[in-house]
Amino acid sequence: MESSSSKPHAVLLASPGVGHVIPVLELGKRLVTLYNFDVTIFVVASQTSAAESKILQSAMSSKLCHVIEIPAPDISGLVDPDAAVVTIISVIMREIKPAFRSAISALKTTPTALIVDLFGTESLAIAEELQIPKYVYVGTNAWCVALFVYAPTLDKTVQGQYVVQNESFNIPGCRPLRPEDVVDPMLDRTNQQYFEYVRIGEEIPLSDGILVNTWEDLQPTALTALRDDKSLGRITKVPIYTVGPIIRRLGPAGSWNELFDWLDKQPSESVLYVSFGSGGTLTYEQITELAWGLELSQQRFIWVVRLPTETTGDGSFFTAGSGAGDDDLSSLLPDGFLSRTLDIGVVVPQWAPQIDILTHPSVGGFLSHCGWNSTLESITNGVPMIVWPLYSEQRMNATILTEELGVAIRSKVLPSKGVVGREEIKTMVRRILVDEEGYEIRAKVKELQRSAQKAWTRESGSSYSSLARLAKECGMMTKRNAND
Ligand code: UDP
Repeated sequence: MESSSSKPHAVLLASPGVGHVIPVLELGKRLVTLYNFDVTIFVVASQTSAAESKILQSAMSSKLCHVIEIPAPDISGLVDPDAAVVTIISVIMREIKPAFRSAISALKTTPTALIVDLFGTESLAIAEELQIPKYVYVGTNAWCVALFVYAPTLDKTVQGQYVVQNESFNIPGCRPLRPEDVVDPMLDRTNQQYFEYVRIGEEIPLSDGILVNTWEDLQPTALTALRDDKSLGRITKVPIYTVGPIIRRLGPAGSWNELFDWLDKQPSESVLYVSFGSGGTLTYEQITELAWGLELSQQRFIWVVRLPTETTGDGSFFTAGSGAGDDDLSSLLPDGFLSRTLDIGVVVPQWAPQIDILTHPSVGGFLSHCGWNSTLESITNGVPMIVWPLYSEQRMNATILTEELGVAIRSKVLPSKGVVGREEIKTMVRRILVDEEGYEIRAKVKELQRSAQKAWTRESGSSYSSLARLAKECGMMTKRNAND
């Protein structure tokens, strides 16, 4: 490695998955544009997701950050064929460590800080070898950080499976967490993904700081607990940097003129956008009920539809944006659905330009799996939500949105546990788009939209200042290294 330049040089590491790559790329961009960093981003690419590879190509061509792809290794000999997403990503991130170390050594300028995402915590050791500060960037929210760092404590104190406990779990700074709402890796304590989860919970506090994709005014209680010496702060002991909302508009992939021409013609805040993130898939039965629910609601909609899976969940996590076209979809929707809803609805196969849709003034609601990126995109556009949590930490996000923030409504049955029927869907759609309740919820989400904008106000915003503090620390380290 050659000698350091006068600029701080952050190396970022992103794990596979659209929802993981997006926040890291955008953090890198902000470090360059707002704080004058050099940034190198290593993305461990799944190589099976068309959406992920498009995002990567576009980031590589922008040249703002130096983006380098590390191909995910073949781990078929190391995990079961039906291994959970968290297990697969954890094993991939473990296996790429030697390649990542060599790639860092081959860089032209010495890194002055390492920032890894949640699944990259085992690589924090590389920063120790290089004697540079090391940070973990949690692309989701403060409740998630709280649960992660508290997981090793729960592991020692709770007997038996979490999901069969009678009492909710009291995670400092969070609302009581119902056993049925625990994150996916906690659903089965005998599964490898559980051990990986607890390990990550142990490793996060070994960093020099935790960056969280939230902002001070959004989650004050959880953030206080994370910093409080008598609460979670005794476990984390490291600074918490709130850097959210960090969202990234993806470049135009494909031509969407027809869709936006249609949206332009719809009344203000009248359209429901329905999408389940990059990974979400539904059963055939649930797709049928959703179609009927939308039709019965008589409201306008844009629905991103994917081929069904046997169980509702994360069926397209590693294949996002690849797959079926229009022909395949028409056969799976109820007979005549497309023609009956021709004037009020648009069905998009696989993938849609989500941020551009949510930004459009005709959109008035978002039926979402409430992945954290989607959640932030909805809040920052002042769009109220119908939460439809499917996997990962989404059941927790749903509770934040409905019970803590009051910007969303939810179905009686958890969509990951049972089928939500057409009548209930119809009612929820009307509650958000037509009823008085929807207007009140919209007013609340618009307040949060303003608070999100404030967080990134130049110089004075809480997230702007928080990342500036981190940037300053890295800058000081750069000078120290240069003087050595
Ligand atoms: N996304 C999109 N079009 C789609 C589906 C998803 O642009 O059809 C983007 C969405 O805007 C968000 C990301 O993919 O930025 C999904 O991240 P999220 O955290 O919401 O969910 P995940 O995919 O990780 O479950």
